[in-house]
Amino acid sequence: MSKKSLAQELLRGLPGVDRLLQDTAVSPLLDEYGRDLTVEALRHSLEQTRAAILSGDLQEGVTDEMVVATAVTWLNDFLSPTLYPVINGTGVIVHTNLGRAPLSQAALAAMQAVGQGYSTLEYDVAAGKRGSRAVHAEQLLQRLTGAEAALVVNNNASSVLLMLTALCQGREVIISRGQLVEIGGGFRIPDVMAQSGAKLVEVGTTNRTHLRDYANAINENTAAILVAHHSNYRIIGFHTEPELADLAALAHEHGLPLLYDQGSGAFLDTAVYGLEHEPTVLEGLEAGCDIVAFSGDKLLGGPQAGILAGRAAFISPCKKHPLARAVRADKMCLAGLSATLTQYLTGRALTEIPVWRMIARPLAEIDAEAQVWAARLREDGVAAEVVDGRSTVGGGSLPGTSLPTKLLALPHANPDDLAEALRLSDPPVIGRIQDGRFLIDPRTIFPEQVDILLETLLHCAKKSTTD
Ligand SMILES: *Cc1c(COP(=O)(O)O)cnc(C)c1O
Repeated sequence: MSKKSLAQELLRGLPGVDRLLQDTAVSPLLDEYGRDLTVEALRHSLEQTRAAILSGDLQEGVTDEMVVATAVTWLNDFLSPTLYPVINGTGVIVHTNLGRAPLSQAALAAMQAVGQGYSTLEYDVAAGKRGSRAVHAEQLLQRLTGAEAALVVNNNASSVLLMLTALCQGREVIISRGQLVEIGGGFRIPDVMAQSGAKLVEVGTTNRTHLRDYANAINENTAAILVAHHSNYRIIGFHTEPELADLAALAHEHGLPLLYDQGSGAFLDTAVYGLEHEPTVLEGLEAGCDIVAFSGDKLLGGPQAGILAGRAAFISPCKKHPLARAVRADKMCLAGLSATLTQYLTGRALTEIPVWRMIARPLAEIDAEAQVWAARLREDGVAAEVVDGRSTVGGGSLPGTSLPTKLLALPHANPDDLAEALRLSDPPVIGRIQDGRFLIDPRTIFPEQVDILLETLLHCAKKSTTD
């Protein structure tokens, strides 16, 4: 039979969707995925089979089982989530691409409790009537920061936008040229300023801005002075910026607010752990800033959120502005954030909030863990050793400073292949490559991940050496 007529015959032999739907092999699919998706999967499968016949790749009779198997593959691909957990072996603690701060057990429990049913989100149980979602984290934030008022919104980009829109729209905001920063992910201070309708007034130079530069720029159309923390980059060398306290005094002399985009939400001192000192939220408020804006999911270690804390006279217009409704926080965020703030208030942040537990983790403990892992892998025939390295805080905080760590190192002929195999594992293992070795930093590995991590390392290291 000619190639062409074989193909014709195979095509004629293909089952139709209607007949396949009667096939007993398809009924489990109908149960699990419903009729619409099953029909779509069968159509895809038939299309693919038809193409394989026409191209000559398929030269045998097609059974229903073959069509169903291809349909199942399509369903699995189509329905598998794109957002799922990975093992972070990079040692970058607040990893922007890997979901920023992992949440504490207390935060997760609070989110679960509120998420699975109804809640007091906007209900006052004592009064038996409508309440406000603004109250939930506010008391805790007042207590923790000493600020008169606080507001929680969707993220810090929106808290800065809201603050500038509500307080400065149509008027001038003075900022140092050295702070016209892009934080990453498209957050650029000049763009946010433009979006808010405030007019940017740049003063000073990239590396040096003096108090008098700010003073000279103040006029009757000035709405505020803004300070943006550089976060993700550092100016070294010939560099000056006025102290926050001096800027606050200048602003207040002219009846203006000092607004501070602090960014990281640090409440504890990073310098205690050998890092540089990351400015804290409290330092901003103590220096006299009228509003401090920060993220919930960087060094604070909670869920994604943006927080404004400061003087009631300035927070209150932010609360009332229509934009506040557009960027409001959801119940899961408020529950998780409140639980996280409570851990600071009760002195449990260092032991219970993953970000801080990782920052504070003693080097000796990391070393001991890495040695155990290396020994276990060597027993199974995988070359593994422990080497010195550095962990970083990430999340745009403390650029250029890092923590000493110990790394599990797998020397490999093709470290790129090993890294790829690990990335494609379930769950994916993300590490880094240096000097021909694949490296895992125990600092960012959770205890419950260790067994699966070692199993995956073993599997992939053996596989890619025997390939
Ligand atoms: C991270 C950061 C932002 C953006 O905060 P998101 O929570 O990511 O929206 C804004 N300003 C500064 C200084 C930051 O560090």
